[in-house]
Amino acid sequence: MNQGRKLVTVLGATGSIGVSTLDVVARHPDLFGVFALTAHRQVDKLLEQCLAHRPAYAVLDRTEDAAALQSRLDAAGCCTEVLAGAAALADVASAPEVDMVMAAIVGAAGLVPALAAARAGKRILLANKEALVMSGALFMQELAAAGASLLPIDSEHNAIFQALPAGFERGLHGSGVNRILLTASGGPFRCKPLEELAAVTPEMACAHPNWVMGRKISVDSATMMNKGLEVIEAYWLFGLPAASIEVVIHPQSVIHSMVSYADGSVLAQLGNPDMRTPIAHAMAYPQRVDAGVRPLDLFEIARLDFERPDLLRFPCLALAYRALEEGGVAPAVLNAANEVAVASFLEGGLRFDRIAGVIAGTLDAFVPRRADSLEVVFEADRQAREIAGGLVRGLVR
Ligand code: NAD
Ligand code: MG
Repeated sequence: MNQGRKLVTVLGATGSIGVSTLDVVARHPDLFGVFALTAHRQVDKLLEQCLAHRPAYAVLDRTEDAAALQSRLDAAGCCTEVLAGAAALADVASAPEVDMVMAAIVGAAGLVPALAAARAGKRILLANKEALVMSGALFMQELAAAGASLLPIDSEHNAIFQALPAGFERGLHGSGVNRILLTASGGPFRCKPLEELAAVTPEMACAHPNWVMGRKISVDSATMMNKGLEVIEAYWLFGLPAASIEVVIHPQSVIHSMVSYADGSVLAQLGNPDMRTPIAHAMAYPQRVDAGVRPLDLFEIARLDFERPDLLRFPCLALAYRALEEGGVAPAVLNAANEVAVASFLEGGLRFDRIAGVIAGTLDAFVPRRADSLEVVFEADRQAREIAGGLVRGLVR
């Protein structure tokens, strides 16, 4: 790593996490600079970000969008070079100049560039939980082999990271850690009568009570698949068995997760729900820097509540534990089926209360298989999308 200013590539710069990352960068021009910014199709937003941060490279999915952005940047006198396509994402994530990579592309599309950063030995700031869910074993092996480091951005995992003993990456055996308590807000439908879930619209599902996030993760929070994906993410990050990872509903989203120790101590990390806290923590680690987050006022919060999750209301959570237990490609299948079901729901197709059924049906149709290469994982992802797509078509008139 460079000794002075650290250069970061932000994969998924135009998304919710990307924007919060650039906010933290802008607060500390002496500490952080931008090497590359990437987006899928949002040309206008990426233009604005390039003009503000002057990265060496910008990446878009399609060549025509890249050409359009290039000419607008040239006209504005900005020297950023614009590239297109998946290979360019991997290139800007692994270039020698880069110190840190913020992996904030949503879904399976983020796996390849995150792996490229791992293989190049970068500090990876991981928001893209789907990458670990799909190929946790392979991802962790690549990280270790290349001497890359991984800092969790997901608020729960970042909280756990902060509450674990130093050096936990070398194993928790003998550390006295006996449980991880993963907190969940319960989303917008925690108290909604079950019979009303059939009529839930994308706007209702995306109106999260505590967090402002991208649309896919907002739906995942409403079904609690997000917490299911996070259980699998925690399994790979911290190496505890699934039975030692417990989900606790905590509607205020002030405690971001906890670690329970053999002596009865439970260590928690608290803060206002603002992703700039975990982002600033991971970017500056092991230092602490201002993140622009409002200080926590416990008198204003006044109380903290806890509930056991209701698996009848949140069947997706049970499906994630099932996939983790089945192992092999099952978590990749779960993730792919979820992406297909959620995309259809967001387009006004699949009913909200049928998302879990599509995922369960896809898992049922799958023959268990070991995930011993990336090719096997991608093939399982492809087949699961096909099966889930068929199930969705059967349910959408
Ligand atoms: P978002 O939808 O707001 O942004 C996604 C970003 O990825 C955008 O920049 C988009 O252009 C890019 N992108 C989308 N599809 C792509 C593709 N096929 N190829 C290349 N780029 C693509 O999502 P978000 O809420 O910022 O979430 C990003 C990731 O972070 C997700 O994996 C999510 O689970 C995780 N995460 C988000 C939050 C949050 O508060 N938003 C919290 C924890 C974890
Ligand atoms: Mg989270």
